[in-house]
Amino acid sequence: MSIQLPPLPYENTALEPFISKTTLEFHHGKHHQTYVNNLNGLLEGSDMVGDSLEEMIRKTAGVSGKESFFNNAAQVWNHTFYWNCMKPHGGGLPTGLIAEWIDRDFGDFSTFKDTFKKAALAQFGSGWAWLVREGDALKITKTSNADLPMAHGQKALLTVDVWEHAYYLDYQNRRPDYVETFMASLVNWDFVNVQLES
Ligand code: MN
Repeated sequence: MSIQLPPLPYENTALEPFISKTTLEFHHGKHHQTYVNNLNGLLEGSDMVGDSLEEMIRKTAGVSGKESFFNNAAQVWNHTFYWNCMKPHGGGLPTGLIAEWIDRDFGDFSTFKDTFKKAALAQFGSGWAWLVREGDALKITKTSNADLPMAHGQKALLTVDVWEHAYYLDYQNRRPDYVETFMASLVNWDFVNVQLES
């Protein structure tokens, strides 16, 4: 059984003007699809056929000789998660349980937002910034390339893709503007709450 590219959870024009149709066509239709294709190539004849994506990631994380398998499986997972972290008319102040936890663990939303943005900007080269749950606490982290929270005993709640392919067509080199826009206009806090409560 092969891994399939999940459809975007919205139309490819739905995030305009913040993330263009062109970016989503390339990022989902080409980059994400390529990770799916690569993973299916690696799966052929392996002992992981039939495993869930999460099982593949856990079995290959940190395993010598399995780097390519891990990188492609993790990037398939990361991108599906990232699409769901955004929605049209998103962003701004969180609601529900995550709003309470953010105030409890960061003091206030403004401090949380600044810390998350700093993590996204401090990630040198390609990677991801994350809000994660570790035990009963929230943490902000960043990972390089395909690395992800589940390889570190953490539960992902929110991510922003800071690989250049995520923003270059719309923002060129201006990663700060992309991350600011992500926080202000795109974050799907309902999805974050579902992750926190699951
Ligand atoms: Mn990406």
